[in-house]
Amino acid sequence: MDFRLPATVVPARYDIRLEPDLETATFAGEETIAVSVKESVTEIVLNAAELAILSVAIEGPGGVVVQGSAALDETNERARLLFPAPIAPGEWRLKLRFTGVLNDRLHGFYRSTYTDAAGVAHTLAATQFEATDARRGFPCWDEPTLKAVFGVTLVVPEGLAAVSNTAVVGETPAGPGKKAVAFADTIRMSSYLVAFVVGELVATEPVMVGKTPLRVWCVPGKTRLARFALEIGAFSLDFFERYYGLPYPGDKLDLLAIPDFAAGAMENLGAVTFRETALLVDETAASHSELERVADVVAHELAHMWFGDLVTMTWWNGIWLNEAFATFMELLAVDAWKPEWKRWVTFGVSRAAAMTVDGLESTRPIEFEVLAPRDCEAMFDLLTYEKGASVLRMLEQHLGPEGFRNGVRLYLDRHRFANAETTDLWKALGDAAHQPIPEVMDGWIFKPGYPLVSVEPEGRGLKISQRRFRYLGGEEGAEERWRIPITLRASVKRGFVHKQLLLEAGEVLVPLPASADWVVVNAGGHGFYRVRYAPPLLKKMSGALAKLEPIERFNLLSDGFALAQSGMLTAADYLDLTARFAGETDRNVWTVLTGSLAYVNRAMAAEHRPQLEALVRQRLETAAERLGWEPQPDETELERQLRGDLLRALGTLGNDPATQGRAREVYARYRDDESAVDPNVLPGVIAILAASGGEAEYAEFLGRFKSARTPQEEQRYLYALAGFRQPELLSQTLDRTLNGEVRSQDAPFLIRALLTSVYSREPAWEFVKANWEEMARRYPGSAYRRMWEGITALVSPAWEQDVQGFFTARRIDLGGKTLEQYLEQLRVAVRFQERETAPLAAYLAQATKPKR
Ligand SMILES: [Zn+2]
Repeated sequence: MDFRLPATVVPARYDIRLEPDLETATFAGEETIAVSVKESVTEIVLNAAELAILSVAIEGPGGVVVQGSAALDETNERARLLFPAPIAPGEWRLKLRFTGVLNDRLHGFYRSTYTDAAGVAHTLAATQFEATDARRGFPCWDEPTLKAVFGVTLVVPEGLAAVSNTAVVGETPAGPGKKAVAFADTIRMSSYLVAFVVGELVATEPVMVGKTPLRVWCVPGKTRLARFALEIGAFSLDFFERYYGLPYPGDKLDLLAIPDFAAGAMENLGAVTFRETALLVDETAASHSELERVADVVAHELAHMWFGDLVTMTWWNGIWLNEAFATFMELLAVDAWKPEWKRWVTFGVSRAAAMTVDGLESTRPIEFEVLAPRDCEAMFDLLTYEKGASVLRMLEQHLGPEGFRNGVRLYLDRHRFANAETTDLWKALGDAAHQPIPEVMDGWIFKPGYPLVSVEPEGRGLKISQRRFRYLGGEEGAEERWRIPITLRASVKRGFVHKQLLLEAGEVLVPLPASADWVVVNAGGHGFYRVRYAPPLLKKMSGALAKLEPIERFNLLSDGFALAQSGMLTAADYLDLTARFAGETDRNVWTVLTGSLAYVNRAMAAEHRPQLEALVRQRLETAAERLGWEPQPDETELERQLRGDLLRALGTLGNDPATQGRAREVYARYRDDESAVDPNVLPGVIAILAASGGEAEYAEFLGRFKSARTPQEEQRYLYALAGFRQPELLSQTLDRTLNGEVRSQDAPFLIRALLTSVYSREPAWEFVKANWEEMARRYPGSAYRRMWEGITALVSPAWEQDVQGFFTARRIDLGGKTLEQYLEQLRVAVRFQERETAPLAAYLAQATKPKR
């Protein structure tokens, strides 16, 4: 089957009039599409799904009108418009009338509901068209290259707000109690960027950024939560106009919080939609992580207004560039806005997550052939966003920030209002930097995986070699090569030697003035590769941690744990390495450390869990004692967040009775006076109370989830329901994922959390096996796919067999290589378990023996 529409007829302009009926969850529409007929046809093929086409006509030069009929092909989401006589080449106007449904799957034109403070239910309608769901809103040529101008009119009840991509240019009465809201023409853009939102929404006063009015929209009563988003929104809009050297391409910019939203946000030009947690926040009650999330997502979407919206990928295989670039720009903007957040260090966590997938046999190149829409949806993953952004950062560092920016400007200028390929960006970057780009980049973009760089002393210098990093697969791939920009810093005779080189061969000798005491390869931490140090180098380096940058310490641990997962380092040696981090002050380093201990916990037999908990307490107690429970006046936001993270890990993973007792006291204080508890500590306290609490806590948290005043508060209490340990309570939480109490945008993630916890994974797995079909029907596709990631935590040979059998028997396809990747991650964990069970038990017994 050919996945592209025939090129015989192409659209130039759509005039669309839609009338949604929120009561019956349907809509009626009519559209006139100005098309160019390239060769004589009796059939016009375009996309339509879940629509009924009521009438078809085409009007040609000189007013000739030909009536046609429509045949729908639901499987391929197409409509064939058939005409009794040939339509001659030339400019025609296609006129269609149609009806559709406001679905509950959070894609296409869909329905979202919420209950206000008085308990009254309300409905609104919103769109999510990327990747290929504009065809559920109106018949269209739903491919990114078929750009057109959109003139939209929405017919809605008088009292409701209607928002689309551009400014309102007219409002006229349209029958009893209704108005027709007409919007200005859009720029020439792709169908997936069109947006309609209709409902009882309210907007903030506009903030002017240059000529652009910026507003936040939300359900009534929540505008008080919009200030932070307006601030980062205004900053990043201005930042991008300067960076790109081009004005914002729209006439206004609305940021809309939608109560039901499948993804994080969507970059519809001028009408960016968000899930509430990614836009609305109370700065005085939110943790650093919660604020950072809002800043990241807002900056990311605004970066797309140029990169994605003004210049768009030619086909979905180029989605990586769209998303990688927006992720890269989001970091650049947030880092410029709040340098004290050290956003590029935190990005280490995201880079490491991408390396986890990219170390699998079932990984894929960043740029990957996409034919079917299903596979396109699967492209929205860690490789696209995080590996892509890592590789762009590596290139930016290689070219220098200014040369890189000039190349980006040249690219946008060359291709604005049109489409481009990855090679067009390389060409522009190369032209601006006066050096060829593809040779360096190709290995990172078009090849799967990444290198493991090994370092060992050789004479007075170092031998540096490369091979592919693999969790499984042993010696295979030893001959694979990347062009690796390497930055190293060696401690030599109490001074430092810095070197930069491009490693192209299998190995290279790097001479040093004297033999190195220790050396950091991937200095500065931007490289997308792992490093394995020869034992003597590792030993000396772990004695000099204070001399490393936080991102270098992060990589040392992250790479060390990956080597342990792949069998190149023993788990005992890795755990010994973690003992050197008692004085660690960076929260990202702690994130990788506690994350690795949680992984070990999932691989341990239950009888050894108390010893692992003791080890967790040993590793964390020095840092936790240093920070205490109370925020200090001279602390940074990051230190406060670290306090919250460490206490949470001690009270849950470490199961520490003292921390749990103190958390109960703190929460009791919070009940009396909410300002008495630091917002960075509170989420951890809630998680600890869930882990150590019972029915009373469960009832309270459920109540607070239902009456939450901010999206962040709602999320904390919702996920706490997955953190309890009593089977009866967990069974209640599982039931809530399908009984309508938890939104379908959140339920799949709640299930993933339940599958991941050692206390709930067994009942959760049984529940998912029994209910997966209903879940597939009710949950949005993207979230449903991510739910299955939870199976990677079912670490035992018996579970693995059960999981394999389940997927084989039911032929569940999650698109792309998603399922293969989850199954392989499970294989890696089971292998780790098989290899390490006995040695780990011995290690833990020894390490946690009470000392005399
Ligand atoms: Zn994006």
